[in-house]
Amino acid sequence: MPETSNLNIAVVGGGPGGYAAAFLAADLGMTVTLIDPELNPGGVCLYRGCIPSKALLHVAKLLEESHQAKDWGIEFATPKIDLARLRSWKEGVIKKLTGGLGVLSKQRKVHYLQGRAAFENSTTLRVTKSDGSEEALSFDRIVIATGSRPAIVPTLKLDTPRMMDSTGALNLEDIPGSLLVVGGGYIGLELGSVYAALGTRVTVVEMLPGLLPGADRDLVLPLHKRLEKMFEGILLNTTVASVKDEGTGIRATFEGANVKEREKVFDRVLVSVGRKPNSEIAGLDKTRVQVGPRGFIQVNKQLQTDDPSIYAIGDVVGEPMLAHKASHEGRTAVEAIAGHKVAFEPNAIPAVVFTDPEVAWCGLTETQAQKENREVKVAKFPWAASGRAITLDRPEGMTKVLIDPQSERVLGVGIVGVGAGEMIAEGVLAIEMSALASDVALTIHPHPTLSETVMESAEVFFGTSTHIYRPKRS
Ligand code: NAD
Repeated sequence: MPETSNLNIAVVGGGPGGYAAAFLAADLGMTVTLIDPELNPGGVCLYRGCIPSKALLHVAKLLEESHQAKDWGIEFATPKIDLARLRSWKEGVIKKLTGGLGVLSKQRKVHYLQGRAAFENSTTLRVTKSDGSEEALSFDRIVIATGSRPAIVPTLKLDTPRMMDSTGALNLEDIPGSLLVVGGGYIGLELGSVYAALGTRVTVVEMLPGLLPGADRDLVLPLHKRLEKMFEGILLNTTVASVKDEGTGIRATFEGANVKEREKVFDRVLVSVGRKPNSEIAGLDKTRVQVGPRGFIQVNKQLQTDDPSIYAIGDVVGEPMLAHKASHEGRTAVEAIAGHKVAFEPNAIPAVVFTDPEVAWCGLTETQAQKENREVKVAKFPWAASGRAITLDRPEGMTKVLIDPQSERVLGVGIVGVGAGEMIAEGVLAIEMSALASDVALTIHPHPTLSETVMESAEVFFGTSTHIYRPKRS
């Protein structure tokens, strides 16, 4: 990226998409204004999403391991949970990271404006600052990075703190005796796991036939089995028809073919049924930006909207609504603005569900291959054959590689097991580098590690995995 640009740009929204865009723009020599209502950059991901949930999931894992340690001859006393201290530790993590981003902004001379932006026209923003004052500012280019918010189900709206979205759940006001989680996706399972580990009786209701509907079933199965032990109930093919505040709890009624108990009272309810793009930006109608039927701002591969001076990135332009997709889109948009020949055309965007075990995948999935009638070879390596998994007492994991039968190129990777979220990056690199199964099999992986399961699943494709015996057909 040798060229620099002296354009004056604004980035609206300081999440991982917005701040990555703003920082790169500053690195390329642009004059940058970053606008966000929070004190520092960070967005939903750092303030009330990825980061606080991972801090709490770390604690959840520790609690779960403290129980499992009995099997290894170590017994801990029942943990005492100091909720105030747990909350302040989580807040400390957020403060450290968002504060760090504030420092990075200053070092790069990014003009950070705490406030909300509205469009006056294609190149002018009116910013209402946190002190109530207003300022109109003009730019050569504007990048919209306004993200998304929790989707609301009208029948599940009640004005009580007992009804929570992900933000409310992360506030961790108390450890409720019982929690109903509506939606068995990323948020429901991650935060459901946190509360279950803290001692709450958790019931998950999912309207579709399986948890994490987007993921391959064989990757979800080990997680489902573990969650069945952790949670009080997992109700599939079920919806919550109504909720009623009874003062001492929320009475929920269930609908679905397999429903046994029609209604039940819960101390709290977490609604996690997806997210909606924040595309209702004031004054956007004064520009040529087009919004599609699902509320996503329409962009081309350079992330440019139908208005040539406005770009848009991240959750507000489409799925997957993931921070790392947003950051890469943000950087691509800025490079396009700088005049570089770029396009956002990834071969693989990793997805990670940070439950225990973690579920991660990238590139082509088996579900997608079946849907598209695409012929693929699937090579699976069960972690029961991994030395490292056995030393961790976590043999339920599995690593699989999807391979093109003709070219032998790696098309997709799926992993379920502890640390899957870290290891999936190897799959992304393999796919982006057009690696063949033999490239992965011949890459020396350190022993004993879980990463060897990626190498051995590629060996499975050739029928030569060291730790799996496959009798030859006579
Ligand atoms: P999700 O799309 O992951 O899951 C929502 C689930 O709710 C689905 O399984 C859906 O079938 C179900 N559902 C929808 N309506 C329902 C209803 N009325 N009753 C019962 N079930 C219903 O959405 P989410 O968990 O809210 O998370 C939102 C987004 O945030 C994710 O799609 C993801 O992009 C992002 N996120 C990512 C991570 C991560 O990367 N680890 C973590 C949290 C959130």
